[in-house]
Amino acid sequence: MDRAGNNDETDGTTGPAGWRVALLIAGAVLVGALSGFGLGAAFPGGGDAVVSRELPPLREAQLPRIAVSGRTGADAPLVVLDPGHGGFDPGASSTGGAREKDIALALATAVRDVLLDLGGVRVAMTREDDRFLPLEERPRIAEALGADAFVSIHADSAPVPEAQGANVYVLSARASDREAQALARIANESASGLDLPDGADDVAHVLADLMRRETALASVGLATAIDEESQGAMPRHAPFRRSANFVVLRSPEMPSVLFEAGYLTNPDDAQRLADPATRQIVAEALARAILTDLLAAQPR
Ligand SMILES: [Zn+2]
Repeated sequence: MDRAGNNDETDGTTGPAGWRVALLIAGAVLVGALSGFGLGAAFPGGGDAVVSRELPPLREAQLPRIAVSGRTGADAPLVVLDPGHGGFDPGASSTGGAREKDIALALATAVRDVLLDLGGVRVAMTREDDRFLPLEERPRIAEALGADAFVSIHADSAPVPEAQGANVYVLSARASDREAQALARIANESASGLDLPDGADDVAHVLADLMRRETALASVGLATAIDEESQGAMPRHAPFRRSANFVVLRSPEMPSVLFEAGYLTNPDDAQRLADPATRQIVAEALARAILTDLLAAQPR
């Protein structure tokens, strides 16, 4: 939302600063009430403009505070890690009761800590606790922070328990395979209020608008780095590199990948990802890949 744009007319012309703050906090409800009582006329020179205008609700107030960590300067590349699901959306679950939202958060936190230990980059997370975040907000947070890379972290389910191992996904209008397509559809439906285009034809124009070729290539570069670093560090599902139309990968501004750490419907994967020691191995591989790719891409 363009808050600045929506409030240009009111800045500095609304009388006491307190009024503007109050209006910003209360949003459209208070504006409507003031309008109904005719209080706008009490503020000459712009007051009317304030009360006659429907302010959109402030998204800033709804967004969590995002901490950017890192020992290096602000010019160091920034990776935003996005632990999937959260809050009322648990994601997939194992027969033993492990929940994807918890594993994604634990894995992302471990990746962040390894990255901070290795140094050279800054790290932020879209969520650091068990909270719900709409899918569309996740890349938006990263864009707002000026991220150089966006890595969404999941551990999903498969229709059959035999499916095992990690995958990395990049955005594509047409999924690389039927399973990838199904996974993206489920992921996009979970916890999104939007009516999202599903067919490849529908998204082709969206992609054309959204995705610069440079960003797409950089996303593939990041996926390639994860491909290389993950070999020998974890069971991998074949093909390892896949593509599908995930909402969280649609930013035109930064290379974005979705890392599936494994399938919670597979007992071995579930156990491996629930155990902090084996999870750490995955985190280290992912962190090395991110660091290698980000530092290789500098200067941008
Ligand atoms: Zn997921």
